[in-house]
Amino acid sequence: MPAIAYLECSRCHYRIWNESSSAAVMPASVCPRDGGALYVRYDMEALKVRTRRERPAELAARRRASLGMWRYAEVLPDVTPVSLGEGWTPLRQSRRYAGLMVKDEGVNPTGTTEARGMAMAVSMVASYEARQKGVRPVVASSPGLAAYAAAGAMKAHLFLPRELALAHYLEVVAHGAQVHLVDGSYAECERRVEEEMRRRMGPETGAEDPWFNLSALREPFRVEGDKTLGYELVEQFGWMYPDALLYPRDSEMSLIGVWKAFEEMEELGWVTGRRPRVYVGQSAEQGFAAERDEMVLEIVASSGGKAVDLDGRAIPAALQEWGREEGMLLSQHGAAAAAAYASLLVSGEMEPGQRVVVVNPTDGMRDAEGLAKAMHLHPPVSLPTSLPVGGIITPV
Ligand SMILES: [Zn+2]
Repeated sequence: MPAIAYLECSRCHYRIWNESSSAAVMPASVCPRDGGALYVRYDMEALKVRTRRERPAELAARRRASLGMWRYAEVLPDVTPVSLGEGWTPLRQSRRYAGLMVKDEGVNPTGTTEARGMAMAVSMVASYEARQKGVRPVVASSPGLAAYAAAGAMKAHLFLPRELALAHYLEVVAHGAQVHLVDGSYAECERRVEEEMRRRMGPETGAEDPWFNLSALREPFRVEGDKTLGYELVEQFGWMYPDALLYPRDSEMSLIGVWKAFEEMEELGWVTGRRPRVYVGQSAEQGFAAERDEMVLEIVASSGGKAVDLDGRAIPAALQEWGREEGMLLSQHGAAAAAAYASLLVSGEMEPGQRVVVVNPTDGMRDAEGLAKAMHLHPPVSLPTSLPVGGIITPV
């Protein structure tokens, strides 16, 4: 596994390193100059020399050991994994469209592609805290953190919308996380996390940052986990790039990670050729605002892709088509990416037969209420006609 050379700001390229201990074990957050997100950088020259000789044999051995995303250990920080079995998810071929494949990230633990980043970030915190006196609580606005915090023996604080899906509420309670319900969206929850972090850093408490903030781009290691999806895609395509990637608008972290993976793989000589065009499916009312949105737009533009605006009917239509004709229950996010494909086919910007990957970032069933609403489904309202003594429902 490589030593981390330094952390680099994604905005001003300021470098952070620590000579006494590896940057890997520093409790890093964001760029001290401008608050930009930090990328983990390795000694690529040393890595090139090593992997040129060892990669095929090592990868084959790890494949047999089925270590999921940790099969890419040579390009990940040197850490003992806190793993629930994330990564190495299936690439499913469409039955209707030649060349179209769905990368089904919903089969990850916690039902989301975020499991990759959470596993890595929690592993890093666990590794750092093992050298310290106590383990500090972790905080974020992602329900998927709860399981990883439990696995890493950490207390987790989760700021989540009051209108939380039942499955997520069950999940965070079951894993023993402290839930803070917020009136508003996930964006509002993230704002509350920032506020809480500032309050805890403030002079009135005298405490120095008693929580680890594992929110998106507020620490550098989630991207290191997220990037494994990019390595996986290229490996699943026989160490080649697909022609295009279709993402939903809300999976910024995954796309940022995948793009970093492509950059690293090119530097290592693991892949050549033109990077895939990136298309982002978004409903018309979604706008781009936050730092990670800027990063996503930059990726989309540099890839030669674009953001595809979808009308209100496109996502439910894609959900139904993929459910009925493909046997795949996508999430609303995955359906947005699939709807973007359909739209690009119609406009002629995508040609049939091109090798295209739709990323389904989450398991549809985790958001059963949202999915039902999008498909205009209502739970049955009438009770069974017979209820035997004891309350066991028998077939009518
Ligand atoms: Zn900076």
